[in-house]
Amino acid sequence: MRIGIDLGGTKIEGIALEKDGSIPVRLRVPTPKNDYEHIVSSIVELVKKIENKYGSSGNVGIGIPGSASAKTGLIRNANTVCLIGQDLRGDIEAQLNRPIRLANDADCFALSEASDGAGKNSNSVFGVIIGTGCGSGIVINKQLLEGANLIAGEWGHNPLPWPTDDERPGTACYCGQRGCIETFLSGTGFSHNYHAAGGDKITAEQIMQRVDQGESLANEQFDLYIDRMARSLASIINVLDPETIVLGGGMSKVKQLYERVPQVWDTYIFSPEPAITQLLPPVHGDSGGVRGAAWLWPET
Ligand SMILES: [Zn+2]
Repeated sequence: MRIGIDLGGTKIEGIALEKDGSIPVRLRVPTPKNDYEHIVSSIVELVKKIENKYGSSGNVGIGIPGSASAKTGLIRNANTVCLIGQDLRGDIEAQLNRPIRLANDADCFALSEASDGAGKNSNSVFGVIIGTGCGSGIVINKQLLEGANLIAGEWGHNPLPWPTDDERPGTACYCGQRGCIETFLSGTGFSHNYHAAGGDKITAEQIMQRVDQGESLANEQFDLYIDRMARSLASIINVLDPETIVLGGGMSKVKQLYERVPQVWDTYIFSPEPAITQLLPPVHGDSGGVRGAAWLWPET
């Protein structure tokens, strides 16, 4: 069996994953707040508990909200800020006394869905988690493409493609740029734009309820959202041309996206024929990250 750990902002989840994809052990503990040493010891204890419950040891993969620098191995781009600048891999390896694998949580999600999820029959999969942020990962022939700088798939911090004058320069993003895809497509961004257009300060989920109730502003903003997602994914199709794009995170629950976005992306792709790329919901729901962390190791 393989062990997957998903380090989230509020909880750390760990599983034992069998070869057949079943999960005989699943445990969760709260993420210690702003306490790096405590996060490391919580992960180490979780691994030991899983191995005790299962009855043997396994290779450990960890999905994190950020990534390790290709040069130094130190963590960067993490919204759990106490991780930034830390040698998370080295510190956990020292306590577990064995090598571990570490990857970005969106990369883990993409790997899970490409391995035995929505993209299991595809050779190329682009997986996107659209929730409070907008992270993504690329999997080719069931192998995660990490990239030379370990930032492959960081599409959310490219500018929104084919912007209109109204969309330029766009909202400031925490990354230091303006008008990033994430500021338009994340649930937070959708909510911000609805409010900026004169709507109430409500969540993306609440805006979608108003879409269903026929509110005109909500529908107008959702139409814009569809067009922006179509443009953003068309730029991925033009570069990577994946067979399957899988959505995860809170916005992946919006069913209209799977039908309407592909109808619009054909307008933007560099092909006279409709794209055969599929846009699909996740098979493993919120478990994608933790399953993908286990998938970082090959079957033994
Ligand atoms: Zn950004």
